[in-house]
Amino acid sequence: MMKISLIFLIGFLPFAFSTEAKLKVLIIDGQNNHEVWPKSTIMMKQYLEETGLFKVDICRTKFTWKGEREKAYLPLAGVGETQDLKEPKSDPDFFPAFSKYDVVVSNFGWMAADWPKTTQKALEKFMAKGGGFVSVHAADNSFPDWLEYNKMIGLGGWGDRNEKDGPYVYYSNEGELIRDNSPGGAGAHGPQHIIPVTVRVADHPITKGMPKKWLTTKDECYAKLRGPGENMIILATGKDMSGKAPTDRHEPVLMALTYGKGRIFHTTLGHDDYSCESVGFIISFTRGVEWAATGKVSQPIPSDFPTAEESTSRKFELKK
Ligand SMILES: [Zn+2]
Repeated sequence: MMKISLIFLIGFLPFAFSTEAKLKVLIIDGQNNHEVWPKSTIMMKQYLEETGLFKVDICRTKFTWKGEREKAYLPLAGVGETQDLKEPKSDPDFFPAFSKYDVVVSNFGWMAADWPKTTQKALEKFMAKGGGFVSVHAADNSFPDWLEYNKMIGLGGWGDRNEKDGPYVYYSNEGELIRDNSPGGAGAHGPQHIIPVTVRVADHPITKGMPKKWLTTKDECYAKLRGPGENMIILATGKDMSGKAPTDRHEPVLMALTYGKGRIFHTTLGHDDYSCESVGFIISFTRGVEWAATGKVSQPIPSDFPTAEESTSRKFELKK
């Protein structure tokens, strides 16, 4: 009898721990040239909470930009009233409580107004001490002049980024990792299309078990990203097959970085809601968030994960 109950208890313990001690995630947003942002924040929150691993809060700037198209999703964030403006404007009261969370996910985008200096410093401190950060799609357009932010994301695009910010980093068609210091601007993409992704590091917790090649849904293949690119592993690249590719390179789409004791997952995918419905986006995102929070990934690769031949997606339905 004694033996049986002990085995039962030991078997039950991991389950008990996983349901009680969820990882705390903070999604930050409010200003993004991608009008999907009020909806994609809710999509990402739901994707994370559906795994059973995470509890997600949202923190939003009181001045928002381009929140109109998906305004029905704004109240679902539970952040109170916000004011949508014609131009991005700094919110002097934007002070997310980074240190209360395991990982911060940025759904800011191009042209996001600067945060207060104390908030920038708070993120730097949070990360240096071992926090997690996740940059989604146009979050790598934000804050071109904030050096420490650019170290965290590794590579960025647009703004006034150019050779002063670091090399272009990409894979050649021959499979060689290139750091290219040639002068020029940063950030470009061809028309949206289904992008073939190649896993470059298959034994990282985020990519482990993914097929070597898989397809996105319709999305943008960011190209010509440049930045410090330090302490960065390019986990997977995308090749622009739209016929109007800005480069003939394999461009970074999934990256893992460290900053001090902190970990960063950077995905360039997720342009619009149909891009975020991609199983490749969902799974790389939820695994990347877990890795940024803990350094490990416990989530399996599901059977509907895309392959080299088949793009797969899950139609988003809001859970009431
Ligand atoms: Zn985009």
